[in-house]
Amino acid sequence: TDPALIRNFCIIAHIDHGKSTLADRMLQLTGVVEDRQMRAQYLDRMDIERERGITIKSQAVRLPYTALDDVTYVLNLIDTPGHVDFSYEVSRSLAACEGAILLVDAAQGIEAQTLANLYMALEHDLAIIPVLNKIDLPAAQPEKYAAELAGIIGCEPSDVLKVSAKTGHGVEELLNEIVRQVPPPQGDADSPARALIFDSVYDTYRGVVTYVRVVDGRLDTRERIQMMSTRATHEMLEVGVISPEPTKVEGLGVGEVGYIITGVKDVRQSKVGDTITSAGRTASDMLPGYQDPKPMVFSGLYPIEGTDYPVLRDALEKLQLNDAALVFEPETSAALGFGFRCGFLGLLHLEITRARLEREFDLDLISTAPNVVYRVVMEDNTEHRVTNPSEFPEGKIAEVHEPVVKGTLLAPADYVGQIMELCQARRGSLQGMDYLSEDRVEMRYTLPLAEIVFDFFDQLKSRTKGYASLDYEPSGEQAADLVKVDILLQGETVDAFSAIVHRDKAYSYGVEMTKKLRELIPRQQFEVPVQAAIGSRVIARENIRAIRKDVLSKCYGGDISRKRKLLEKQKEGKKRMKMVGRVEVPQEAFISALSTD
Ligand code: GDP
Ligand code: MG
Repeated sequence: TDPALIRNFCIIAHIDHGKSTLADRMLQLTGVVEDRQMRAQYLDRMDIERERGITIKSQAVRLPYTALDDVTYVLNLIDTPGHVDFSYEVSRSLAACEGAILLVDAAQGIEAQTLANLYMALEHDLAIIPVLNKIDLPAAQPEKYAAELAGIIGCEPSDVLKVSAKTGHGVEELLNEIVRQVPPPQGDADSPARALIFDSVYDTYRGVVTYVRVVDGRLDTRERIQMMSTRATHEMLEVGVISPEPTKVEGLGVGEVGYIITGVKDVRQSKVGDTITSAGRTASDMLPGYQDPKPMVFSGLYPIEGTDYPVLRDALEKLQLNDAALVFEPETSAALGFGFRCGFLGLLHLEITRARLEREFDLDLISTAPNVVYRVVMEDNTEHRVTNPSEFPEGKIAEVHEPVVKGTLLAPADYVGQIMELCQARRGSLQGMDYLSEDRVEMRYTLPLAEIVFDFFDQLKSRTKGYASLDYEPSGEQAADLVKVDILLQGETVDAFSAIVHRDKAYSYGVEMTKKLRELIPRQQFEVPVQAAIGSRVIARENIRAIRKDVLSKCYGGDISRKRKLLEKQKEGKKRMKMVGRVEVPQEAFISALSTD
């Protein structure tokens, strides 16, 4: 295709503002999907995406469109994942486009996520087309939010398009505006090939399918290509475009978007952000911005049934084929048995991975409280990277460093006080504040990542009745007064409960955990102290009083069947007991104490 006829664009939107529905209308209007084949959210392929209504993996679809000028253009819609955890993937998707539709629900207004992605799009110099969706809703306030959008991006309120992705109203006009406003790709057809990988998906039948945008030169079937970050070479077995089903083509030229298949079996060999060139004629420079995905949040995953351990290992290996950001290594815990320490991009990534393990591989899992990665510098200048609190080094510590993030919060002006209070309690520092409109405020904070991975989001939502939204991006690290709190049962440390917390919060963590465990652990035949300690200093203590365990004492009268049931129950319970020193703890107790909800 002549690059002058190509328009590469993406849709930036907050979850539920209608991105998938708008994509559906575009597929229909361009005739790529026939009306009778249409199903809602056509492009959201993964089941879990459909259920949770979020897009995890981006996709690209080619839409031939004859515009008002009677010329047929090729529009490439590149879908971007919408969540902070995947912001690096968002950034790569944006780098593959020249334009972005800024899609905002006309009854809600812009959200922090969208704003953060908009800034990213502006950094990539994309043409921005502001669009209000859902104007068919009675609650829609198109005039108000058009003014807000215009204020943010610096256009006239009348430049803001108004559509209903549901009814299709205004979508034809939007397609014409894409042709008019999004610049055609610029690239050098005669240079050595350079193509950006913006997505990589493992497919059981075809191996890794890599989505690319050609910047310079050409990629042709059967050619040998090189991954520029590793210099590994592969033969291209197939080149194609998605429209909306995969369709083979001979090759891809300047500005074109499509997929390639090389027969590699693992997405880590074909990473998002990498540059592909021809092995025979290599380009000298990579395209900008390649980063290895970096896990930010760690958690121990353990099968509730110990015998499921090999199943869990296989399942993690399978998921990793499709997820270059997932890392794991075996770990043993005295409390939970054999499991894995897993690294994730963020909490949603953790949650999705856990849900997929439980659903697709039929596993019951317990995960330990998520923690971030700490860098501990000792007085003798040696360093430790700590991904598991129980591995916090002993001895003379000079400094502990923790990751920090730049957070953007958007909320109605009424909630500014509430948000400030919350951020302050979470060791945040205010960097700036702007009014987007009369009644909406953008607040920028630096916050320790550890303070938001836990329940920050829930707290924010409940303090603002759901009106505030948050986005954050990694922003280096800071030294902080952090200590490891251990929880001990009769003098024995229970590894799964060790936590690294700020010194000011050590006491409340200790009190909370010892109380919880006292309630959850059944009485033993001897008294059991439950303690929280920093090093050898005990900061909280509870006692589980001694009792002679006799389940039958609860049964009055001679109800034999009830007695038998109880005995069986006790036997069953025995199987799931873990010994911590001399103390028998039902696994259930650990599970409840660790669960955050
Ligand atoms: P996404 O999360 O941005 O992909 O949003 P979806 O496309 O999944 O839409 C979220 C919800 O809004 C769905 O229930 C849609 O049916 C609904 N929706 C999307 N566009 C419109 C619209 O123009 N009008 C109305 N009334 N509902 C819409
Ligand atoms: Mg969607």
